[in-house]
Amino acid sequence: MHVIGTAGHVDHGKSTLVEALTGVHPDRLKEEREREMTIDLGFGWMTLPNGEPVGIVDVPGHIDFIENMLAGVGGIDAALFVVAADEGVMPQTREHLAILDLLKIEAGVVALTKTDLVDPEWLELVKSDVAESLRSTVLDGAPIVPVSARRGDGIPELIHALQSVLAQTPARLDRGRPRLSVDRVFSIAGFGTVVTGTLIDGSLGVGDEIEILPRRLAARIRGLQTHKTKVERAVPGSRVAVNLSGIEVSDVKRGDVVAAPGWLRPTLLFDARFEHLTPLKKPGFSSALEAQQRGSEKPGFSIERPLKHNDEVKVFHGAAEVTAHTRLIGDESLPPGRAGWVQFALREPLAVVKGDRFIVRLPSPSITLGGGIVIDPQPGRRHRRFRPDTIARLETLSRGSPADLFLQALDASGPITTVDLLKRVNMPADAASQAVAELEATGDILKIGGASAVVASRAGWNAMRSRLASELGAYHKAHPLRGGMPREELKSRLKLDARVFNAIVSQAVVDGALVESQTSLRLPDFAVTFTPAQQKSIDVLLARFTSQPWAAPSVKESEAAVGADVLAALIELGQLVRLSEDVLLLPETYQAAVTRIEAHLQANRTITVAQVRDMFDTSRKYALALMEYLDAKGITKRVGDERVMGTKGS
Ligand code: GDP
Repeated sequence: MHVIGTAGHVDHGKSTLVEALTGVHPDRLKEEREREMTIDLGFGWMTLPNGEPVGIVDVPGHIDFIENMLAGVGGIDAALFVVAADEGVMPQTREHLAILDLLKIEAGVVALTKTDLVDPEWLELVKSDVAESLRSTVLDGAPIVPVSARRGDGIPELIHALQSVLAQTPARLDRGRPRLSVDRVFSIAGFGTVVTGTLIDGSLGVGDEIEILPRRLAARIRGLQTHKTKVERAVPGSRVAVNLSGIEVSDVKRGDVVAAPGWLRPTLLFDARFEHLTPLKKPGFSSALEAQQRGSEKPGFSIERPLKHNDEVKVFHGAAEVTAHTRLIGDESLPPGRAGWVQFALREPLAVVKGDRFIVRLPSPSITLGGGIVIDPQPGRRHRRFRPDTIARLETLSRGSPADLFLQALDASGPITTVDLLKRVNMPADAASQAVAELEATGDILKIGGASAVVASRAGWNAMRSRLASELGAYHKAHPLRGGMPREELKSRLKLDARVFNAIVSQAVVDGALVESQTSLRLPDFAVTFTPAQQKSIDVLLARFTSQPWAAPSVKESEAAVGADVLAALIELGQLVRLSEDVLLLPETYQAAVTRIEAHLQANRTITVAQVRDMFDTSRKYALALMEYLDAKGITKRVGDERVMGTKGS
């Protein structure tokens, strides 16, 4: 599941476009409808043509509400970047683009809106101007789709472009450590407190105990919804509404984090790699356009000012906004375009994780300075400036510890043999074994399939399990009358080597994620079910078998009566036994026959086909088919024209 966020200048048609895509107008406040402007976040969802449900966060484009924009854009996987064709690139177009860049939101589609207001030549000009503005940003080369929400032009193309971009965007990893940055809190009569946000790093289930950070308040999940539909479990990467019991609405606010208890520690200090925005080159064309519009715009987006030591700034992380002071560890100051090590001393605690991205703004004048990535979420103490050992430590941390590198390799590879993993990470054996021990102790890596030869990161294993579930689910849907997917077919679909595949299957069977029977695999809750019409024809057919068990319908006749698929399902389910190309028996008829033949062999040592035919008062065809079947099973053994007891007989 993925979440898309809109971005772009105010009035460029974001909300209108979300309505065209989802059928729901995202502006939820009365004031917004009156002013026709998005002030707070709006939410919607749509189902892509390939069936994937996608959440949409609609953010405000107005300069006064940039904080709300930041609260919404935090958890998104891809941007729907909106530029109005009549106005072109405007100040918040640039600011939002810079923010997407700093948050490293690498997937996106540009919608060039309001094409009904411009002529084709102008449209081409704006298109190339937009393409130019995207250069050297995360959205460089993103598809630019002209649309008119008013006329409906280009909407199918836009949906298609979003689908192909999302298809290449990896699903959020399930690290078994769910957290959700709260972007809305409200109460519903009879249900109590509800919080919403984008879930990352793990899944949440109804009944789970959670804690709310930074205050560490305990609560329990009473109900979950994704896209207004009740779910028992919500998966990472989805928009979720969580109904909490044991907590008042007044105890939770935007920016708090709902997480599994115990693993996430709020901090008042964190170390980061900070990147000051690069001065943007402004192509002449859009500067002229911008200059025209300047009159109505407050200057909002300037990057001239350096970041200084002990600056008071605002840190935006997830949906949280916290005032902080900067400690520049290795630089006197950080001018635009420069990056450096910065320790942020926060006024209120924040729940951050290594690798999280955040944005930094000056409170006054209100401008975006840059952003960064959390390197150490718990530095423990204030660093002294210009200390080479502190800087060296931050450099090492930002490259990643051996355990981090190991985990990254495992996340990327999925389940893998230890031998192949060691080749990939290219690490000395003792460092590797120490990393493995560390990661096993924290539960971040798992041994798959009992033996220790195949390992997976927790996230890699969770991803593999959902892959198994979706492959089998798709198979069951396509073949509702087959009891399961042939093992070999699944193996070739997953394109895995035999050792890894076998380990995965046996682990998934132990975990109860799938059921194995003979050579096929199925989901635990899957069962072949017949339609009422099919069941009726089955009942008629089986009644013919019961009335004449030894002169029953042939395979051909049975296929004609119920259909080849249904007959194959009856055989797979054991409701009929197929003896040969053409002969079928009821299982009880077959069992009784085996018992009588075994008794005969015990008493007389041998039996002939003719004797079998007479024993059941049947034809030679049936008797021969039965004996060949028993030979193949090892219950009998052919010796000349007679049968004796086989090794499997009793
Ligand atoms: P947002 O601030 O970016 O969310 O912009 P809105 O969706 O609120 O749209 C701003 C204004 O542009 C509204 O008056 C819309 O009716 C209008 N608008 C949006 N899309 C189109 C379009 O495709 N064509 C025209 N002519 N107007 C549009």
